[in-house]
Order: sequence, then structure tokens, then C-alpha cells
Amino acid sequence: MSDGPTYGFDTLQIHAGARPDPATGARQTPIYQTTAYVFRDADHAAALFNLQEVGYIYSRLTNPTVAVLQERIATLEGGVGAVCCSSGHAAQIMALFPLMGPGKNVVASTRLYGGTVTQFSQTIKRFGWSAKFVDFDDEAAVAAAIDDDTRAVFCESVANPGGYITDIAAIAGIADNAGVPLIVDNTSATPYLCRPIELGATLVVHSTTKYLTGNGTVTGGCIVDSGKFDWSASDKFPSLSAPEPAYHGLKFHETFGPLAFTFHGIAIGLRDLGMTMNPQAAHYTLMGIETLSLRMQRHVENAEKVAKWLENHPRVDYVTYAGLESSKYYDRVAKVCPKGAGGLFTFAIKGGYDACVKLVNALEIFSHVANLGDTRSLVIHSASTTHRQLTAEQQEAAGAGPNVVRISIGIEDADDLIADLDQALAKASA
Ligand SMILES: *Cc1c(COP(=O)(O)O)cnc(C)c1O
Repeated sequence: MSDGPTYGFDTLQIHAGARPDPATGARQTPIYQTTAYVFRDADHAAALFNLQEVGYIYSRLTNPTVAVLQERIATLEGGVGAVCCSSGHAAQIMALFPLMGPGKNVVASTRLYGGTVTQFSQTIKRFGWSAKFVDFDDEAAVAAAIDDDTRAVFCESVANPGGYITDIAAIAGIADNAGVPLIVDNTSATPYLCRPIELGATLVVHSTTKYLTGNGTVTGGCIVDSGKFDWSASDKFPSLSAPEPAYHGLKFHETFGPLAFTFHGIAIGLRDLGMTMNPQAAHYTLMGIETLSLRMQRHVENAEKVAKWLENHPRVDYVTYAGLESSKYYDRVAKVCPKGAGGLFTFAIKGGYDACVKLVNALEIFSHVANLGDTRSLVIHSASTTHRQLTAEQQEAAGAGPNVVRISIGIEDADDLIADLDQALAKASA
């Protein structure tokens, strides 16, 4: 189908990027389980290798099953192109790679997925990159943190795990003024709940491992490009604006225009970093995306019910769900994610660290796992697991203190989830 803007989200989540298989008529997108593709002749091969013609060469770069997923996610996010890769963390490195260089920095929100804080505060230093962490509610501090060496601004739309919503339009304005791209991790919200590109984001990254796949089967990641950033407006982004020696001096931005970032991600990023998504993973994620809107509606509905119930529970200190009127970020929900604040939140219980550990052990429907965005309800005590590598200060800043439990609300019966939490809270305080 031609996916024009006339189709709604529910139609696009099933059809965008896909067409009946030209060889067999197969209606569902086949898993193209192949490493390589036969060239028509030597000239065809040469044209492909010179990026003069678009086509399949080798599955480290492109694969037809993965290509359908890329087009699907790009369409749902309102971007011009997307590159899928092996995990959400791979997507983050792939998003930064064309922008950064030794001595360059990314200005990042303090409210990020724990693994991202570790990746940004430790691992990227090995590349000579660095991150400056700032409270993104303090817009003046964000603007002040951007210096001549800043090459990107990074935040999450609905932040994992603290029930925090970023004012994406405000942050996009700051990044714009400074001439640097804004990268938004839209994993927790998904394009059904939040559309960062419409709010001014340059790039959107995903851990497709989570809600997009939706049932905890495969890891994957994706970078979507809005196609709106002018990479040649300054000399800050030579990977995209200057001649590329590996392709006979080709300039990505000049040659591919709004698709420059996407082409670079495939032709340089996947080619040389090799963080490729495999076609099996793309298949599972395509299956998941077909029901994304239906699942997200139920995730939100259940999360609202459970959060309200927890908020009134005597053993609970507070609940950080942005969909609650008590949340400081309640007003931002309407602006940033008008269909709801997602299915992920934290709550603090009386009795601190020990009570949290007892609660996690006592839950029966909720699975104790380091994951989120599954059809199943999941629980984790961040301070003893995902946020364990962080300092106490970083844990507090990320909303993952010792008395805090994170839950990812599934699409089961809300009453069953409430009953499970009720019995576990009783055991936690016994
Ligand atoms: C899980 C997650 C990541 C990392 O993704 P992986 O697929 O686990 O590598 C990044 N950001 C957010 C918000 C996540 O939830």
C-alpha cells in the first residue's frame, strides 16, 4: 500500500512498509533468512557498492524483513527514515556516532534509563566522548550546559523509571537555538502515546525490545530521523556534511538530503560497527507492532487504575505516575503524550529497601525481571538491580531510591494486578 498521511495510526501499524511478497504473494512479511543477495551483474554490484543505487548487498547492512520494520517505525514516528539495530543501547551509540568525535559532548537529562546513564557516564569515554547530565526541568541549565563541543541533546519522552515527562517542545527550542540536534528516547511512550518529531525532536531512538515488540521475545533498537536537521549549516557535523573518504569523497548530506542520517547509519554505522538487527528479531517486532495501539490503550487504562489504587494504600508513601493528578507532571501529559502517560511507574513503600525486597519476592502475577513493556506485568527493585551501578545521588536523581519499586503494568485484568499487589504489600510489611 502507499502509506500516505491519510491513513490512521491503527492502519499504519499493520500496513506501513509491507506489501505482499513479490515472489510468492505471501501476505505476511517473510523472514528473509539470508546473508547475501545475488547481483544482477557486475555493473549492478558496482553501483550498489558506490551507493549510486539502493539495493541489498549483505545483511549486516540491509535485509528485506528489517527494511519493512524500518519503514514501519519511521512512518509511525513521522520520520523520513529509520535504521534498526541489535538493541536499544546499540541504537543510542548509532545515533551519537555520526555526530560525536573525540572531545565532543552530549547534554543529557539526569532522568534516564539506568543503563543509559552508565553508557553515557562511563563507556562512551572510551571513544573520547562525554556526557553532561542536567536537570531538564531547569531550561536555563540545559541552555547553559550546551557549549562549542556539544553535538547533541538527549532525553527520554516519558522517563524510565521515575514517572517524569520531558517538555520536549521546550528542550527542542533550546537545542535549535544552539544548532544541535535533539535526540529523544521514545521507548516508554511509543509513537502511539508520544510523537517527539512533531514536538521538534531531530532523532528518535527506541529500544524495540520493549513495547514495540511487546511480549518480551527479542532485543532490538531503532533510530528514526526526522529529516529536518540541516547538517551543513555549520561545520559541526563533518561525518554528514564533509567528503567521506570511504566513499570517494561523497558528501552524505549533499547527496542524500533529508535521508543523509539514515544512509550514513547504514553505509557507515552498520557497515563498520555491525550492530545489526537480525531478520528473526525484525519479524517478532513486526508482529508486535501490529497490535501496538490496542496494547498501549490497555497498558494506560490498567496503569491508571493500579496507580490510583496504590496511591490510596496505607503502606505506600507515594506513586510517581504522571497520569495521576497528584503528579507534578500531570499537565505535561496533555502536551507531550495526550493519549496517556504509559504503563510504567514507580512507587515508594514504607519500610525502605528491605520491604521492597520482600514485596518483589511476594508478588505472584508480576514477574521479577529486568525488562519493561511486556504484555505481562513486571516488577523490579531498581536500587538493587538496574540502578545498582549508580551512586546514591544518581539513584535519587533517576527516581530510583532504595525505597522505590518500579512496575511495568501489563495488559492482564487490572483487578487481578491489584489483588496481587495487595497481598504482597501485606507480606512486605509483616
Ligand atoms: C531498555 C531501554 C533501553 C536499552 O534498550 P536495550 O534494548 O535493552 O538495549 C534504552 N532506553 C530505555 C528507555 C529502555 O527502556
